[in-house]
Amino acid sequence: MFFASDNGGPVHPAIMEALAAANEGDAMAYGDDALTARARDALRATPEAPEAEIFLLASGTAANALALATLAEPFQTIYATPDAHVINHECNAPEFYTGGAKLTPVAADAGKMRPEALAQALDPARFHSEHDGAPGALSLTNLTELGTLYSPGEIATLARIAHAAGLPVHLDGARLANALAATGASPAEMTWKAGVDALSFGATKNGAMGAEAVILFDPARARELALRRMRAGQLLSKHRYLAAQMLAYLEGGLWLDLARSANARTARLANGLREIGAVEIAPEPQGNILFARFPRALHQRLLAAGAEYHLMDGDAQKGTPEEPLTARLVCAWSTPQESIDRFLQILRSLTA
Ligand SMILES: *Cc1c(COP(=O)(O)O)cnc(C)c1O
Repeated sequence: MFFASDNGGPVHPAIMEALAAANEGDAMAYGDDALTARARDALRATPEAPEAEIFLLASGTAANALALATLAEPFQTIYATPDAHVINHECNAPEFYTGGAKLTPVAADAGKMRPEALAQALDPARFHSEHDGAPGALSLTNLTELGTLYSPGEIATLARIAHAAGLPVHLDGARLANALAATGASPAEMTWKAGVDALSFGATKNGAMGAEAVILFDPARARELALRRMRAGQLLSKHRYLAAQMLAYLEGGLWLDLARSANARTARLANGLREIGAVEIAPEPQGNILFARFPRALHQRLLAAGAEYHLMDGDAQKGTPEEPLTARLVCAWSTPQESIDRFLQILRSLTA
């Protein structure tokens, strides 16, 4: 009953096989190999962006921080939501790699930035002089950290506001596949066609061993990102193994199939939880993450039975039994259906 995160699961067998197949003989290091050339082509073709520049890296934090460093100057501000991974969970890597740009939260509803709040934050009247710093970039996340979804139209609305103020737009796509599987939008519609300039394209949480990419839709920034990636120690010498993962991940639409599985598992879990009176689900889950609120005593029993997940707002062991606590429950493509059913069955038996 593992629901702690979608990066706890195994590597998809097709990706493992691709790694084994890549493990033959010699190849040029640092990305000058045939497999990397193919992976870059496949990553350009995925959002139908033949001019885009592709950078493979080993972590999503590196992808986000280096992409943002390429988009914003040290004296500028990057706007994101209060729950954004770039603000809360990257140990200030974006601030570090930008050389000190400021990350400012903009009000959001259920993880989605409010357009009017962004417009207000970028109001030119706020920027009188050098004392006020300057706006630098917008960073959005889809699927959001709260398991909700922007449609391509909603991304486009926010991107128009940013572009009107001269800001480039970054999209944290650690779970882009889950967002695309849920909306049915194409990768192009959700990214550059909606105004995204730089994309962190995740694979690790959805079946890879450890492979992420930055896709720069504006190739003019590529030279800078190449230098920044090397300086950050993120240009892996054995690049072909990153490339092999990405190729297998994209091959035949595997990445979207895996995301559909993860989303379907979460929907199954959500449907089961809805039938249990003591459980409150909010916000409405749209991908593979859900937040469920129920009394501490139930958490204690689930955890004792072997369930693994994170609590957002309290300690399972310290406090009154009736106090409600919020669990973040994440399904991966690989989450066994029996785990979901067992989790639900335990809850049902406790609340019957
Ligand atoms: C997991 C995650 C990342 C990347 O995390 P790494 O552990 O550095 O690979 C980035 N953004 C979001 C929203 C995430 O959930």
